[in-house]
Amino acid sequence: MTKWVYSFGDGQAEGSAQDRELLGGKGANLAEMCGLGLPVPPGFTITTEACAWYYAHERSYPPELERQVDAALAEVARITGRRFGDPRNMLLVSVRSGARASMPGMMDTVLNLGLNDDTVEALAAESDDERFAYDSYRRFIQMYSDVVLGLDHEVFEQILEDEKAQRGHEVDTEFTADEWREVITLYKAKIEEELGQPFPQDPREQLWGAIGAVFSSWMNHRAITYRRLHNIPASWGTAVNVQAMVFGNMGETSATGVAFTRNPSTGENRLYGEFLVNAQGEDVVAGIRTPQSITEAGRLESGSDKPSLEKLMPEAFAAFTRISARLEEHYRDMQDLEFTIERGKLWMLQTRSGKRTAKAALKIAVDMANEGLITSDEAVARIDPASLDQLLHPTIDPKAERDVIGVGLPASPGAATGEIVFSSDEAEELKAQGRKVILVRVETSPEDIHGMHASEGILTTRGGMTSHAAVVARGMGKPCVSGAGALRVDTRGGTLTALGRRFSKGEVITIDGTTGQVLAGAVPMLQPELSGDFAAIMEWADAARRMKVRTNAETPADARMARSFGAEGVGLCRTEHMFFEGDRIVAMREMILADGETDRRAALEKLLPMQRSDFVELFEIMAGLPVTIRLLDPPLHEFLPKTEDEIEEVAASLGIEAERLRERTEALHEFNPMLGHRGCRLAVSYPEIAEMQARAIFEAAVEAGARSGSQVVPEIMVPLVGVTAELDFVKARIDAVAADVMRERDTRIGYLVGTMIELPRAAIAAGAIAESAEFFSFGTNDLTQTTFGISRDDAASFLETYRRKGILEEDPFVSLDREGVGELVRLGAERGRAARPDLKLGICGEHGGDPASIAFCEEVGLDYVSCSPFRVPIARLAAAQAAVRNKA
Ligand code: PEP
Ligand code: MG
Repeated sequence: MTKWVYSFGDGQAEGSAQDRELLGGKGANLAEMCGLGLPVPPGFTITTEACAWYYAHERSYPPELERQVDAALAEVARITGRRFGDPRNMLLVSVRSGARASMPGMMDTVLNLGLNDDTVEALAAESDDERFAYDSYRRFIQMYSDVVLGLDHEVFEQILEDEKAQRGHEVDTEFTADEWREVITLYKAKIEEELGQPFPQDPREQLWGAIGAVFSSWMNHRAITYRRLHNIPASWGTAVNVQAMVFGNMGETSATGVAFTRNPSTGENRLYGEFLVNAQGEDVVAGIRTPQSITEAGRLESGSDKPSLEKLMPEAFAAFTRISARLEEHYRDMQDLEFTIERGKLWMLQTRSGKRTAKAALKIAVDMANEGLITSDEAVARIDPASLDQLLHPTIDPKAERDVIGVGLPASPGAATGEIVFSSDEAEELKAQGRKVILVRVETSPEDIHGMHASEGILTTRGGMTSHAAVVARGMGKPCVSGAGALRVDTRGGTLTALGRRFSKGEVITIDGTTGQVLAGAVPMLQPELSGDFAAIMEWADAARRMKVRTNAETPADARMARSFGAEGVGLCRTEHMFFEGDRIVAMREMILADGETDRRAALEKLLPMQRSDFVELFEIMAGLPVTIRLLDPPLHEFLPKTEDEIEEVAASLGIEAERLRERTEALHEFNPMLGHRGCRLAVSYPEIAEMQARAIFEAAVEAGARSGSQVVPEIMVPLVGVTAELDFVKARIDAVAADVMRERDTRIGYLVGTMIELPRAAIAAGAIAESAEFFSFGTNDLTQTTFGISRDDAASFLETYRRKGILEEDPFVSLDREGVGELVRLGAERGRAARPDLKLGICGEHGGDPASIAFCEEVGLDYVSCSPFRVPIARLAAAQAAVRNKA
């Protein structure tokens, strides 16, 4: 026969913390505390399996359930010496839901269940406090009607407010017992009027009503939404916890409170919590009365003149400190506790691992490892890598008021404040005057690089998580909110319209790239701190991980930043980003507009020294670490001006006819540039471009090598290869240039030529490609785009709908799609390694900075991940966690 009900009480329990799946988090921990001999009011837990049964059988109960509940109630009666429904010796209970994971969307609690017109008298007599008894009864009616009978609590609030006003009371505590009696009569009349039946007087009916309400709440709208947001399967179900009541509101020697064994916002190792004298659970969170500090130290810190629990009830306080220390040691984690003191006696009502800020999580993990409570690997495993984002950037002070005017995608973390500008040139001008700006665009293009550099943050109204703005901003470590579709940008008029409010150029806004919010005005910020606990966790992570972590960087500033975050080389230098700055774009355009190869080579000659000095600097910053340089990737038209005004201007500066520029732009126009003339296809059409880049790389390697006295071994990466012959064609040119430079400089240069695997065909043909390639770097941005056939630039407009409708759980451009794209990565890695066992494997798509994707990379056995500079610490931690998990 199935066991549906698990009892606990009197130092014994049928379940334990191991039974979380069956008993839910709350039930399992109540059982555990009981098993430890801690003072827990006796009770029982109806299992999550009963909930599953309930839904599988048209919301009915398993036949044996009633008998098992009765037996458990009898056990509670034995322990407490009270009986459910007995007016001479009544047992009152609380009923609470409790799923495997804590779920705020569900029914929470019904207290004082079992009260009725008879038992309330008994409670009054027993407590010798009529006021307390009737107050408890009216609370019960209110709570039960709300969560079980579905009567909006507003109905009761209204009655209460009217009564208060009529009697001239300011607060609830001024009601006398008789007045509460009258309120109760009004409540009951209202219930009958609304529901057509009286408030249930039979405690058993009340109990089964509450049990049904808990099970039903599993499928309420809030719970369903919460589950969807947190990936909790509907099949888990909730447990029901029924427990003998203890009263924190039985006079001045009673109290109720919540506490954390360490400070959840700073992590400080000191008991931290609040309580209220003469109050019941919900009063502490309801915020009607101001709670008092548990410890004297906490009271002094808050400057409160209300006594601490330590002073007020020293014995209960001493017991509570002992128990909280014991629980923390037992669970080996910071605990979030609920307790009640009934006439001086302490009762524990809940323990669970406490939620904490990123900063507190670091401190607690490091402290606990140093205290010997956990190992350094466990400390590493306890930090959510994504939460490090909060620590690497300035963040909005959580206490600050937020005047939110719009929300977009959290494209690049951190917060920034500045004056609105609508063009990159303006951004640069104002920056030169020492002003701080936010660049606001419909979307950005490579021509905005200088403006993005000059601004504090970037806001776009179009584009997704891998849009140009998002990728470049992350690379630069600048906050970015992308795709804020509800905002309207009028570039010509110089206005930004949001929620009907209009903001002009020069007005100050703040963007929060961690949440995607756009706010009016300046907002107080907190600055990052990278030493101390952060450094300790990183050191332990580095000791635990197998994969290397490189960075995607091209500018010296990014490369330096990445090194300071612990990058172990460059995994992707997107050389096209080096062609936009200053006078380079002019030479680049000359090259694109050149008539024939001779002219083109002449223009390339101008670009060569600029590229070379870029690479020298990069090699020097990365001193001795590997640097992967990718040959030019985007289609050429990206470098040409777009609007008529820009065309006129550029034509004038190049000294050519606007008409010719227009013609060339049109000739280069593509319907699908992402699938067009880009990547190695450019190098096949114009080998001289690849040759110039190769020469710049080799000459820079020689120069940097000579300066540092140690050899630089560049890794040259060919993008968007689909067939081996493409790679062979380009590699032959690279090898020829290498031979030339070696001859000219009379030196030897070590180098590797490899390719990106970013097309399905390349992954499938990886065996053949590896015959020519010395390394692979999985370009999972393009690989995702081409595997799904979803444009990375247009996906944002419908992917959110896909997620909302449950078709895709995650944006595959953010977190690697294991089933499809991941299989191609696995296949590419296997086939590549089979052909060339020492093939070096890495990833440089945006997924290289995403913890879940990094875990996948560890499983597949990649040698390194590469990500934007600010993601480097996240990747170090995620790689360590993946390695520890894989070892286990
Ligand atoms: C990729 O496609 O994953 C990649 C890293 O290249 P890019 O984003 O520059 O196309
Ligand atoms: Mg790519």
